[in-house]
Amino acid sequence: MELQRSRVVEIAPSSSDRYLQKSHAGTSEICVRLHAFFGRTESTYFMTATPNNSKEPDAPDVSRASRIRACLIGSAIGDAFAARTEFLKYDEIVRRWPPDGPQDLDGDPARVTDDTQMMIAVGDAIVAALGRPLVPAVVEEELRRTFVTWLRDPENNRAPGMTCLRSCAGLERGLPWIDSTDANSKGCGANMRVQPIGLLPVPIWTRSALAQFQAAITHGHPTALAASDLTAWVIADLADGGEPVGLVDRALTHVHEQRDVYHHEWLGDLWRKARASSAEEFSRHGWDECLAVLRRVREGLARSTPPRDPCDVGGQGWIAEEAFATALYCFLKSPEDGVAVVRRAAATNGDSDSIACLAGAFAGAHLGMNAWPDYWVRRIEYRDVIEKLAQHVFCAGSAARDDKRKT
Ligand SMILES: [Mg+2]
Repeated sequence: MELQRSRVVEIAPSSSDRYLQKSHAGTSEICVRLHAFFGRTESTYFMTATPNNSKEPDAPDVSRASRIRACLIGSAIGDAFAARTEFLKYDEIVRRWPPDGPQDLDGDPARVTDDTQMMIAVGDAIVAALGRPLVPAVVEEELRRTFVTWLRDPENNRAPGMTCLRSCAGLERGLPWIDSTDANSKGCGANMRVQPIGLLPVPIWTRSALAQFQAAITHGHPTALAASDLTAWVIADLADGGEPVGLVDRALTHVHEQRDVYHHEWLGDLWRKARASSAEEFSRHGWDECLAVLRRVREGLARSTPPRDPCDVGGQGWIAEEAFATALYCFLKSPEDGVAVVRRAAATNGDSDSIACLAGAFAGAHLGMNAWPDYWVRRIEYRDVIEKLAQHVFCAGSAARDDKRKT
């Protein structure tokens, strides 16, 4: 569509509307929402224009490529947004950035933390593995390579998690992953990095196995595995065009369907190392803890007065299921406004950078690049690397779809 004439007709505070929407009823005009930043003030411009054809879209059409890009960029935006608040309590955050916490990215480039670095490591490993037979030995080899590279990267100085450091050190020494992983850890390091797997157009069984396996290599607790699976599942649902309305119920269905599933081929004897009585009992432990936090999210969304600190709903986020739940709550409070989502997730009593990282991923997968102001996207550290990863993930999907058409 070509904009033949345009004029600014309204300047209003940021709202939760979509990028492209029909304008006044009975006219042939459309509205285009543009974000503009003047210092820390965000405004929304409504421009009217006459399209050069008569066909008007009924709803915003967000491409898959845009969703993939925005999910990965959105993770990094959330991570960078909250890098400065990770170890601060809510009261301290709003005292330093009154009245509601940080409203803008800090720095240029806006520095990310270990969350984004490890998301890139998982993405690079999975993209490399997709060019080979997708079996546990291949995925393990690629994850070991990228995790050890991250471990020794001089830029790995962004408050990395101790479980990741210890487990990756074991991988570097050549230990089998099942010996180097921490079977008692369900830290959010397990799922803060799983986004690329959620964006792959692979069968649900494969996605679950990959999401759980990338977690298991460092965090062997059953809830680390289940929460990583669930995080990837939500991203996949949103990237496929799933609506925020009903998302919690659909996620609950996934939990019930997966409760007794143990990916033997990928996880081997991990359940024995965790001293579970059976593989199924190991699996159920993880999914039941996910079930509990999903119910908390549903109750939190129904509250007439939302808490100021979103951790009051989903937990502080230092552990995987709580990071998932609090991020999901932040997203579902304003699913059509990605900027509001990361602002909300960055001001918490808990692990704000991991919560905001996942909340940004959910918003990006739903809204596409319309979620993020260019002013932010341009400043994100590792932007070129993330853009390249997004292209690889998208091309992997295109290749998979082509293969399916040929068979
Ligand atoms: Mg971090």
